[in-house]
Amino acid sequence: MTQQPDAIIIGTGVIGTATAFEMAKAGWKTLSLDRNAQIGHGSTAGSCAIIRMHYSTFDGTAFAWEGYHYWRDWAEYLGLGADASLATFKECGCMVMRTEANGFLDKHLANSRDLGIPVEEWDAAQVEKRLSIYALDSFAPPKRIDDPAFGKPNGGRIDGALYWPNGGYVTDPALSSQNMADAARQHGAAFRLGVDVVEILQENGRVKGVKLASGEEIHAPVVVNVAGPGSAHINGLAGVLDDMTIETRPLRQEVAHVPAPEGFDFDSLGMVVSDSDIACYIRPEHGNNILIGSEDPECDPHMWTENDRDYNGDFTEQWNNQVMRYGQRVPSLGIPSQARGVVDLYDASTDWIPIYDKSALGGYYMACGTSGNQYKNAPIAGKMMAALIEYCEGGADHDSTPLHYRLPYIGRDIDVGFYSRRRPINDESSFSVLG
Ligand SMILES: Cc1cc2nc3c(=O)[nH]c(=O)nc-3n(C[C@H](O)[C@H](O)[C@H](O)COP(=O)(O)OP(=O)(O)OC[C@H]3O[C@@H](n4cnc5c(N)ncnc54)[C@H](O)[C@@H]3O)c2cc1C
Repeated sequence: MTQQPDAIIIGTGVIGTATAFEMAKAGWKTLSLDRNAQIGHGSTAGSCAIIRMHYSTFDGTAFAWEGYHYWRDWAEYLGLGADASLATFKECGCMVMRTEANGFLDKHLANSRDLGIPVEEWDAAQVEKRLSIYALDSFAPPKRIDDPAFGKPNGGRIDGALYWPNGGYVTDPALSSQNMADAARQHGAAFRLGVDVVEILQENGRVKGVKLASGEEIHAPVVVNVAGPGSAHINGLAGVLDDMTIETRPLRQEVAHVPAPEGFDFDSLGMVVSDSDIACYIRPEHGNNILIGSEDPECDPHMWTENDRDYNGDFTEQWNNQVMRYGQRVPSLGIPSQARGVVDLYDASTDWIPIYDKSALGGYYMACGTSGNQYKNAPIAGKMMAALIEYCEGGADHDSTPLHYRLPYIGRDIDVGFYSRRRPINDESSFSVLG
């Protein structure tokens, strides 16, 4: 790139590429940088890429419902040629067990109804009819397998669930980033891979650009930190941590892949399920497998890592815990001797709600703290970041007069200050991956 960009975007994950796409469409000459050799190969590649609508807060629910529409209209949203190879959204539905831990989903049901999100109430018989491999004994509270009470039903039963028919998952999250990068290129966006940002350059209280590990400096009046689990490190380089009440921190996660019980076609009959009774979320995984993630129960220690580049990529006892927990719900589940799945990092925020914001440094913005739950929101997050940057660079003070932004599909205004780096910790949050 010979010309100086208008904006540098650090990171080519799903949110970084969405930001590049939206800013490029709005006329910005963007340059995206990533230390990896391929687009979308940060935490996005390890994402379970579940698209769901149930969040703990009303604003989170509205944002996720808006987010769903971009996956539904993926080809149209991107505007790439008919021969482009696109990520696929499997709209298999999402069922969430009603448990004491989630207040039997009363708040979630009310939020969905207020927002006009299709949602069905299922009783236990309907759950068993749709997933005949399920047994609905209750095991709450979730335990670790070395607890003598593990695997012993507590005498109660799951009474029912809510089902969101529009939930589902995207089959290839890295490809979805690459799709957005290709779409962004059509609007003039540029990408450089294999480049490591080691310094945030500043001049007179504003950002001036970045320095790479090679010593090369790239100058731009706007820099956006979309570095995923590397976000805290980059914010540290920019010297903007002091006025933030919300921290971000890399958190190690294990996701298990196990074969579906023999004779059950989970690829076509399965769905996304969130089950707080056993602290697992699951979805179909290619080849009649089941993907099992953790809903971060209190009994599991958080596996924080201070270094987003160097962490233990091997499975641990956590893998067995997740699989055995799911075995409580599906007694016919076979437990393979060989652990398979994904080990990756969340960029967890203090209250598990992301930060989409400006910073104390003029021209320096951040879209981070995505806490294992913002894949689905990437396109709308990119759109909102583009609007926020326009707003601030146009002279507005988002801290004192927060941007109000209309979510285009659902036609609702949101106060973007909800995602402020300086917000009080949101105690409505689940403080888990559920957001
Ligand atoms: C195991 C797992 C499961 C998940 N499941 C879901 C789910 O089911 N549904 C959902 O909605 N969300 C889910 N998420 C969350 C979702 O995947 C993330 O919120 C999203 O992918 C973050 O995208 P990103 O663009 O912000 O970051 P990333 O994809 O992490 O991209 C950041 C990029 O920045 C680059 N970078 C960092 N530092 C530097 C530097 N100094 N110089 C140059 N480049 C740098 C990295 O190389 C990386 O490519 C999950 C996440 C994980 C880890």
